[in-house]
Parts: sequence; structure tokens; C-alpha cells
Amino acid sequence: MKTLFEKIPELDEFAEVCGYLSQRGWSEGSGGNLSFRIKTPSYIATKHKNTSNPVALPVAVPELAGQSLLISGTETRAREIALRPAENIGLYIIADDGQSFYWLAGNKNPTSELPSHCAIHQTLCRYRPEQRAIIHTHPPLLIALTQCAEFQKAEHLSELILSMQSEARLQLPEGVGLLDFHVPGSLELGEASAKLMQYHQIILWYMHGALASGKTLSHALDQLEVVNKAAEIFWILKSAGCEPCGMSRENMQKSLSQFGRLQRYEQAFNYQHRS
Ligand SMILES: [Zn+2]
Repeated sequence: MKTLFEKIPELDEFAEVCGYLSQRGWSEGSGGNLSFRIKTPSYIATKHKNTSNPVALPVAVPELAGQSLLISGTETRAREIALRPAENIGLYIIADDGQSFYWLAGNKNPTSELPSHCAIHQTLCRYRPEQRAIIHTHPPLLIALTQCAEFQKAEHLSELILSMQSEARLQLPEGVGLLDFHVPGSLELGEASAKLMQYHQIILWYMHGALASGKTLSHALDQLEVVNKAAEIFWILKSAGCEPCGMSRENMQKSLSQFGRLQRYEQAFNYQHRS
């Protein structure tokens, strides 16, 4: 018989998305981590909040006060989360002052990147509150892109890669963000990502992996699949000895205009060229 925690509907989606990440070879070993902001089930909050100790957060996240996170446990494997979600995913509530969190249910040892996830969720709460999901994973085709000399500027990467397939830029008019090297798992990486997440739904980390936000974990995975498909086309052409040319800017703008997304594209383009 299922426990109250196991009955949380978002747990099933969490497991399903982890299964896909594992099948794609994007989350090798215990690589990657995911989180999903949910409304705290009252029966779980009252049962557990008084019995666990608060853990201080290194960054204050006042926008998250009283909200809960489903988040992967430390050293957990995506393939095992897919099979046994309740063992490998923990539910935590952010304290009312936004400066600490409490364990509520499930896995008791969250990923060490929980503070980074909190910082990124805080950005989402401010700028895209409808987006409640974060995926960090290691897609090899995207990691390879970060090592190309021609893509050391995010706007160059977005302009060419998202022009490899005619619908990619429609999905991501703001393009893809790009971060320099940061120590894996560091709070600096989390804070830099949180800052950039204001503008982008996908961020590539130099020589490391990708970060995606979405309304749900499935939606965040959709965004990753879009960029990955575009990158796959780029690498197929490169491997065949062809120089990828991509859609012309004129056709790109025509297409974005048709779908009412040209302004988002131009705002991002102007922002990137200023920075
Ligand atoms: Zn990673």
C-alpha cells in the first residue's frame, strides 16, 4: 500500500523523466539532478515539520518561503530514481524566513546542489512563476558544443545551433545561455545560473552539461530535446564534412513574426549584444 508521500502525483512524473534521462545516456552514474516546486501537501507538512531539524541555506530565498521542493537525493542514479522514486527523491519545505529548510518525506539526503536549486527557483518565482521544474543533466552533444572555439559567445551558439531546425528558435526565442567554467556542484555555479536563468530557459555549462527550466519536468525535458535535436543536426553535418549554414536570419525573423515571438528574440539579441 502506498504511503501519503508516494501518492504525491508529481512523483510519478519525476520518475518518468529520470527514466528518459537515463535511457538517453544523459545522466551517467549519479550525474545530474532535478527538482520540482510543489504546493506542500498539508497532511505531510503537519506530520513532519515538527519532527525534523532546520538546515541553514547559504543563500536566502524569501520568495520560496513556505513552498516545497521535490529534489533528487545525493548520489542517486536517474535509472534508480525511475524504478524507486520514493527512496531516491526527498520532499523539503523552505522555512517561513526563507533561510533554512526542513525535510518532510522520502530521501533524507538531498543533492549537495539543493542551495543552487533554491537560488534558481527563486529566479523562476520572480520572472517566470509558472515554471516550477529544473533539470540538470549531461547531454554529450551539448557539452561538445561548449568546447567549439566559434561558440564561446552565447549569441553565436544560439544563432547557428537554433537555426539548424526551423522550429527550434520558435520554442526558445530567447536563445540559449552559456556559462564559463565553474567548479561542479559549487554555489558559484548555482548563483551564476540563477542570474542567467532570468533570460534563458536553457543554459549550457562549459565542459559540464545543461540546465533547463520548465512548467513541469516533462516540459523542461522538451526544451532540452529541442536544443539537443538542433545540436545533433549540427554534428551530423560536421561529421559528413559539410559546413552547417542554418536558416537565414530573414527566414528566422519571418517565422518568429508569424508566431508572435519576434520581440522576444530581438530583446534577447539586443541584451546579448550589450553584455
Ligand atoms: Zn553535472
